[in-house]
Amino acid sequence: MNAYLASVLENVKTKHGNEPEFVQTVEEVFSSLEPVIEKHPEYEKVDLLTRMVEPERMFTFRVTWEDDQGNWHTNRGWRCQFNGAIGPYKGGLRFQKNVYEGIIKFLGFEQTFKNSLTGLPIGGAKGGSDFDPAGKSDAEVLRFCQSFMTALYRYIGPDIDIPAGDMGVGAREIGYLYGQYRRLKGVWENGVITGKGLSFGGSLIRPEATGFGAVYYLCEVLKHENDSIEGKRIAVSGYGNVAWGIMKKAAELGAKVTYMAGPDGYVHDPDGIDTDEKLNFILDMRAKDPMHCKPYAEKFGCEFVEGTKHWGHKDVDILMPAAMQNDVNLEWAKKIAESGVKYYIEVANMPTTNDALEFLRGQKHMVVAPSKAVNAGGVGVSALEMSQNSERLVWTAEEVDAQLKKMMVTIHSMSAEAAEEYGLGYDLVAGANIAGFKKVAEAMMQQGQF
Ligand code: GLU
Repeated sequence: MNAYLASVLENVKTKHGNEPEFVQTVEEVFSSLEPVIEKHPEYEKVDLLTRMVEPERMFTFRVTWEDDQGNWHTNRGWRCQFNGAIGPYKGGLRFQKNVYEGIIKFLGFEQTFKNSLTGLPIGGAKGGSDFDPAGKSDAEVLRFCQSFMTALYRYIGPDIDIPAGDMGVGAREIGYLYGQYRRLKGVWENGVITGKGLSFGGSLIRPEATGFGAVYYLCEVLKHENDSIEGKRIAVSGYGNVAWGIMKKAAELGAKVTYMAGPDGYVHDPDGIDTDEKLNFILDMRAKDPMHCKPYAEKFGCEFVEGTKHWGHKDVDILMPAAMQNDVNLEWAKKIAESGVKYYIEVANMPTTNDALEFLRGQKHMVVAPSKAVNAGGVGVSALEMSQNSERLVWTAEEVDAQLKKMMVTIHSMSAEAAEEYGLGYDLVAGANIAGFKKVAEAMMQQGQF
């Protein structure tokens, strides 16, 4: 890493010592930027990187709500408008017990480059709350969402900042949040939030977009390696929206997901999670209890292993961590490398620790793809939802799917070309960082401020 990058990183470490996830993501992005910074001395001249690691704006707010027993609770809410150089701020909301500033900032920083990679005009943002959705009644979720939006609504808008879902925020929460926004503002601005229900401006394919997009990206990687998806066995972690989309698209294309994992352990279904019955069962299972995937193994008579992860088995061809950050650490990465598996395709935001990612990238027999490219189809289709809302039109599923596919093909080729341009070979991780960074950097330089 050159001296300029190292000094900015050092300052980030000092300033954000208590936000390890944020430091981790900055370090990961910076590790790819040396050749770009050397080619563009003008960036150092205006100290562009120090600006880039500082969110343009970040709000903290109080969210107070009453539970069904009449007890009052106070949570904290955040919105981080990280970088608006290329478009209005865009990014999801995460409701999870462990959310704090460091998580929101890391996600906002990642989102900035991810959104840039989509090729669409969307800046990077993220928000959320330390609200724990587990075990909450529908009425409690409604009251929480209304209170959350009452604090947030004055900072967002269809041309300002457009939130969406993330962990703990699905179609139900988006509906409640939008309902409260409309109530407060008294306008029909459905372009203010994405992931909406189809009856009020949602886009077809949005729920599946992240998973479908990840599989389209995977197909490009396979094509590059003169390989094909036909007959491949895929191990995913998670079984939420994203993992579910992967299962569905993989099955459609003649591959099968044979492992999935949840907080309670992992399931091995060698026949593949590839029938409507199995896919629908997962939807039901997670609606009832998002913490346990064991019921799947009981229902379909397959193996369940409690309290551990499935990484490192030899009977798979492709790994797709699609659950949460830091799912794969160096210990797991070593098992993965030993297993001889070739494809490591990140899907969740930052699912690999930096040392593990570096280790896997160093394995000659492996191809590693980064989440900020692989999962960008989700936010990409959110941007298509925004387009449909401003056009007052509804596109067909085929139209959205075709656009999504095109987007993923472009993201893959842009990343591969960026790495090639800097003599890095087929390095999709560096390529995505460089391609995502270049557009944001150019926009910031041309706008001459911030
Ligand atoms: N939370 C998703 C992500 O990580 C989606 C964001 C959006 O659609 O705005 O990209």
